[in-house]
Amino acid sequence: MYEHKHPLNLIDLWSEQLQHEEEDEEDEEDGLIAKQDFRCLCCRCKEEITLFDSHPHPFFCIVSKQILCECFACGKEHKGIFYICSVCYDMFLHSHCAFLPNKLQIQHTTNNVFSHIHPLTLAYTFPTDDQKSKFYPNCRVCLEFFYPNLWIYRCEKCRYYVHLGCATSREEPFMSILTYPGKLIRNYEEANYPNLLHLPFPDPSYSLLKHLFFEENISITTIVGTKTHNISHQHPLILDCSTDHDITRSIASSSRIVKTISFHDPMKSIQLLCDGCVRPITTKPIYMCANEDCNFVLHEWCTRLPVELKSHHSHPQHTRLILHSKWPDKFFGVFRCDICYFHCNGFVYHCEECGYKIDVNCAFIPEEITHASHQNHLLSRVRQMETNYDCRICGNYFRENAFSYSCKNCDNFYLHPCCALLLPETTRHKCDKHPMKLSYFPIENHKNEYFCEICEEELNPQLAFYHCSECMQSMHPACAPSILCYETHMAYCYYVRIAINEFANVKFGSTYNNMSIHPHPLSFVQGIETDGRCTNCHDTLQYDMIFKCLDCEFAICHWCLKRKV
Ligand SMILES: [Zn+2]
Ligand SMILES: [Zn+2]
Ligand SMILES: [Zn+2]
Ligand SMILES: [Zn+2]
Ligand SMILES: [Zn+2]
Ligand SMILES: [Zn+2]
Ligand SMILES: [Zn+2]
Ligand SMILES: [Zn+2]
Repeated sequence: MYEHKHPLNLIDLWSEQLQHEEEDEEDEEDGLIAKQDFRCLCCRCKEEITLFDSHPHPFFCIVSKQILCECFACGKEHKGIFYICSVCYDMFLHSHCAFLPNKLQIQHTTNNVFSHIHPLTLAYTFPTDDQKSKFYPNCRVCLEFFYPNLWIYRCEKCRYYVHLGCATSREEPFMSILTYPGKLIRNYEEANYPNLLHLPFPDPSYSLLKHLFFEENISITTIVGTKTHNISHQHPLILDCSTDHDITRSIASSSRIVKTISFHDPMKSIQLLCDGCVRPITTKPIYMCANEDCNFVLHEWCTRLPVELKSHHSHPQHTRLILHSKWPDKFFGVFRCDICYFHCNGFVYHCEECGYKIDVNCAFIPEEITHASHQNHLLSRVRQMETNYDCRICGNYFRENAFSYSCKNCDNFYLHPCCALLLPETTRHKCDKHPMKLSYFPIENHKNEYFCEICEEELNPQLAFYHCSECMQSMHPACAPSILCYETHMAYCYYVRIAINEFANVKFGSTYNNMSIHPHPLSFVQGIETDGRCTNCHDTLQYDMIFKCLDCEFAICHWCLKRKV
């Protein structure tokens, strides 16, 4: 039996581990059986430690009593026994960090609060170039960034990175939640929030307005009239709530027209958007225009929107917002929403006193939600003050004073309301036969770099993206939208990649007739490359809202036509 006068600590044999680092990468399970032995931590034993990859010189213990000092491994100030570099004399290493295991399972060290399928390996740096090539990942535990010179635990296969302190649950804020198993512990009482909306919605057939205004058992099958509850349209509207699923055929009794429309289906490139909320129409009941040449169509629930909103939270200056089915002063009904700043030509709530206007989706953004990207923590709608943090879903900044969803427990978690509400959990795309699932982190065991199957550009897996785990295909959220804009529009807005398509709230496809502008009818569409330049301002028409003639070469941008009429 071996005897020693001081207590011994179980530690890993660094040198052997590090020499086998390469082979370990091949087979992480074998690497787990760490080679360990017992060593004295006492300075009198003149124990030296070497950390070859981290620092070239040996370290020795300075004093046997506890001192308060900043550790160069974790960057934190600790009280404890410190080692100092025998050559540099200004590098202090806390004994706790000096004897960290080379590999660990995060579920063991965090009491199952966090888990990962592979063991995490200790790394002595996280160089900026490496971080950049992986889109600057954040710590999976605290969501904060990494300093290049501090040690981390990582799984390179899965791009899973954690701070030293977070991997070993030494950080104080976490100690409180680590006493419970599970993910983030729910920080609200369910009973206090009976109508809490859990986002994202399951698929593109769900929407906020359906959630709020859908009613079962609409018995009448056909109503003819120019007015539903409070929506006016220049032609009669037909209510269709029959059970015929794929397609809808209705006969307007007055006009005797048989009208056939197909439901929205991205797999078949069929687009059918509601003129009220501009979300896809995938099921009945619907209202559609009886006129054969008019593509006006509404979700039945979108006709139940309140005619006015009193004392709206977003506009306390004035008392009420009035619903209009077309923005009255704006050409072709296109306006910019004062909440989300997207263009929209659907229904609008409008303040008659000052011209404040919001689209019907933004008018109802809930006060509280939960979101799968931040499970179990309540997210509250707040006015965004100055923050260095970006939206967890799209990675973009918040305009000053715009709304965001924020977590009261985690001061680094924010979502744009439209990112939370408009990206469903699954979506479908022609390029993949399976539903694609919204993912918020890099995929486990992902072999290659990340590329979008649609635009073929690189994709940041630290933000939200759609992924099919069977085909290992990924897509930008804006490239796989439910409204098919990707066919003409790249997901950029002022050179910033966005998660929601810039024209997600615009319904294209109607026609404009004005002999003084052009002898043929003009179609309202999104410009594509072959449309060339605007007849009037000569700006390129690709990606813009344009009017073009289908009979001849004439094309003009929305802005120029608006100025002319
Ligand atoms: Zn330390
Ligand atoms: Zn892994
Ligand atoms: Zn609608
Ligand atoms: Zn809006
Ligand atoms: Zn106002
Ligand atoms: Zn966002
Ligand atoms: Zn939180
Ligand atoms: Zn893309």
